[in-house]
Amino acid sequence: MHLDAEFLVIGSGIAGLRAAFSLAERGDVIMLTKADPRESNTGYAQGGIAAAIGPDDSPALHARDTMAAGDGLCAAEAVDVLVREGPRYVRELIEWGAAFDREASGQPALGREAAHSVRRVLHAKDATGREIARLLGSRVSGRPRVRVMDDAMAVDLTVDSGTCSGATFVTAAGVQGAVTARQTLLATGGAGQVFRDTTNPAGATGDGIAIAARAGARVMDLEFVQFHPTVLNVEGAPRFLLSEALRGEGGRLINDAGEAFMERYEPAGDLASRDLVARAMFREVQRTGAPVYLTMAHLDAGFVRTRFPTISRACANAGLDLARDRIPVSPAAHYLMGGVTTDLDGRTSLPGLFAAGEVACTGVHGANRLASNSLLEGLVFGARASAAMQGAPKAARLAGIDVDDAAWPARGTESTPSASDVRDLMWRAVGLVRARGPLHEAVERLAAWVGAVAAARQTGACDPELRRLANLATVGWLIARAALRREESRGAHFRSDFPSRDDLHWKKHIADRIRPA
Ligand SMILES: Cc1cc2nc3c(=O)[nH]c(=O)nc-3n(C[C@H](O)[C@H](O)[C@H](O)COP(=O)(O)OP(=O)(O)OC[C@H]3O[C@@H](n4cnc5c(N)ncnc54)[C@H](O)[C@@H]3O)c2cc1C
Repeated sequence: MHLDAEFLVIGSGIAGLRAAFSLAERGDVIMLTKADPRESNTGYAQGGIAAAIGPDDSPALHARDTMAAGDGLCAAEAVDVLVREGPRYVRELIEWGAAFDREASGQPALGREAAHSVRRVLHAKDATGREIARLLGSRVSGRPRVRVMDDAMAVDLTVDSGTCSGATFVTAAGVQGAVTARQTLLATGGAGQVFRDTTNPAGATGDGIAIAARAGARVMDLEFVQFHPTVLNVEGAPRFLLSEALRGEGGRLINDAGEAFMERYEPAGDLASRDLVARAMFREVQRTGAPVYLTMAHLDAGFVRTRFPTISRACANAGLDLARDRIPVSPAAHYLMGGVTTDLDGRTSLPGLFAAGEVACTGVHGANRLASNSLLEGLVFGARASAAMQGAPKAARLAGIDVDDAAWPARGTESTPSASDVRDLMWRAVGLVRARGPLHEAVERLAAWVGAVAAARQTGACDPELRRLANLATVGWLIARAALRREESRGAHFRSDFPSRDDLHWKKHIADRIRPA
């Protein structure tokens, strides 16, 4: 099957949908999406979308909070774009009919989340992403020039004379095809599945990063993986996210003896940024040898159940009452700050290829993302990329980045790993607390696996499990390489052998460009 279009959009989360909506004004759009549209990270987002629209708020204050969470590494120009343009795109959603919760006055109700200095998070109960995906999905399906191909997984980009000219794909039924397009947007979302424990759905395997890296595009900041501190930790139950908004509304972390412990580690207590809370929990578990819990029991039970119906249901399915019981929690991989390097308009280092949303890296989140900034990022940078895609293909001019030009691992003869092998290794050696020895071993092992999978793909290129494995191993290898290289602790990246932030040597972004094999 061979298809032609002006624009190719890969992924149907918030970034891809917002971009496709605008692109359809200028040309035919093909949107490839590998799963049921509800299986995007967007569909899972609970807490909400941040925007400086409250009377006590301003873009400058939002920028200050974003930069503080980013721990000295946010790209200031990208933050400026996010906080200044964010309110406009969020108001657009409201005009289009987004069912955000409202105050009695009719104004959007604003939630408080960790490391935000004011209430600024718009929400639709605790299923905000589902509401935004519904709304954008309906806007896009009203555009006759967009052809959405469900269950079509992009496999690789096609590159002609150094310019991206589309992608190859395979459908769930095994049909292979290709799309030729003047401009291509990667909007494939995150990579939580690279780790054993994650809040991300099954499709978040980092495909866009692997695909772009294989085509020779630059990737950046991959060492910065955000581990969400509060994920339901009940044997046999899904690792369901317990949104930060629970602590924003007064929820507390307690130890096995029922003591609130966060203030002992962090002055901001339960509302410290995610990396600080996750590491404090890790240390408390080490100190006590027992699990830690989230409790809402001191709050009005009716309020808790009404404000958090989805989370209440998930807890009930695990035999727990969110409003009354202490809920066992532990951290899990949640969000990737790094990704395919882009400029402020989504241009990557490969002409004709754009990226937006979680797969992209503008540097806006620095070393740690502020809660509820990622839906906003998808919206703002998805819209900006669509505007830039209407121009001529050219590469981003990216300055001030320390790029390592490395070779792909050679094709090997050892046996291919299972996905669990990759995910267990990443969790053990490249997780919340990292150190040189385990990182070094992980890089070697993952490189061997990338080589082994590449060799196996030569013979069984159509096998979907092999493709998934190739992407998981590649992204794991790139994350581990970056984590080994950064010899300091900053934001979400914590090295027990280099526990301090080191601005003198490491106040910079590190990037990889892997030379095609
Ligand atoms: C449980 C959870 C809760 C969250 N809560 C919040 C929150 O409250 N606020 C907030 O701001 N952020 C939140 N986030 C993060 C946020 O949801 C994501 O960062 C954001 O939705 C990413 O949007 P996206 O458009 O970049 O990607 P996604 O929404 O992940 O969409 C990616 C799309 O790409 C498709 N795709 C992937 N690979 C391929 C391929 N090879 N071929 C074709 N299609 C492909 C997928 O099927 C999907 O349609 C949460 C994330 C999770 C997991």
